[in-house]
Amino acid sequence: MTADGKYDVIVAGAGLAGCLAATTAAKAGANVLLLDRNPESEVGKKTVWGWTCGDAVAKSHLDFVNRKTGITFSRPELDNPVTGVLAISPDMQTKFMFDGEGFILDRPEFEAKLLRAALSAGAHYESSFEVEAPVLEDSRVVGGVEGKDRNGQKREYRAKVVVDALGGISTVLRRKLPENPLRGEADRYRRH
Ligand SMILES: Cc1cc2nc3c(=O)[nH]c(=O)nc-3n(C[C@H](O)[C@H](O)[C@H](O)COP(=O)(O)OP(=O)(O)OC[C@H]3O[C@@H](n4cnc5c(N)ncnc54)[C@H](O)[C@@H]3O)c2cc1C
Repeated sequence: MTADGKYDVIVAGAGLAGCLAATTAAKAGANVLLLDRNPESEVGKKTVWGWTCGDAVAKSHLDFVNRKTGITFSRPELDNPVTGVLAISPDMQTKFMFDGEGFILDRPEFEAKLLRAALSAGAHYESSFEVEAPVLEDSRVVGGVEGKDRNGQKREYRAKVVVDALGGISTVLRRKLPENPLRGEADRYRRH
């Protein structure tokens, strides 16, 4: 935390995107707080549907992460090497082959590794924290998030930058942004 009680960056959500954002920002020298509702033992779990994911990843994507962050991957997080992935429609009538080297992940191990990378880069981490809203003053976003900690206590954290990595475009932070012309533009863009 900086002298004025703020972090440089708050990353909301410690999934794949959040852990990598926290690692990258911390490696660049930022004071980072990473928040997630999951307990540390289940970091990366998609809480609504459990561990839902196909867990297939292209080697080129892991190489990209390695180039950008220095994180190296091996067993146990890389469970099985594959030479392609066959995507099949729900009615089994349409099949699409993605050729190329890749892996089936052990997802809990993979996410735990990404969290360890964020922590060793120097990010602070609070698990079991439910993010509820951006911090607003007079309908203006002033930089920060509010939510409930593991004891159900209301907490507010401030930062110069908030990264919404809660998963997707309809996160609680996104939904609670005040109406403004820029948000309207973004919504119009998404509809086309
Ligand atoms: C059925 C399915 C199959 C898939 N298969 C594949 C595949 O084979 N290969 C592939 O590469 N991708 C696959 N994906 C996509 C992949 O899972 C996502 O792209 C990836 O997980 C997105 O990462 P993320 O960090 O953005 O979000 P998430 O992984 O969803 O992380 C969001 C984090 O935010 C936390 N969070 C959410 N709301 C709050 C809150 N209010 N307060 C605190 N914390 C909160 C959650 O606990 C979670 O840890 C699949 C997805 C689905 C649904």
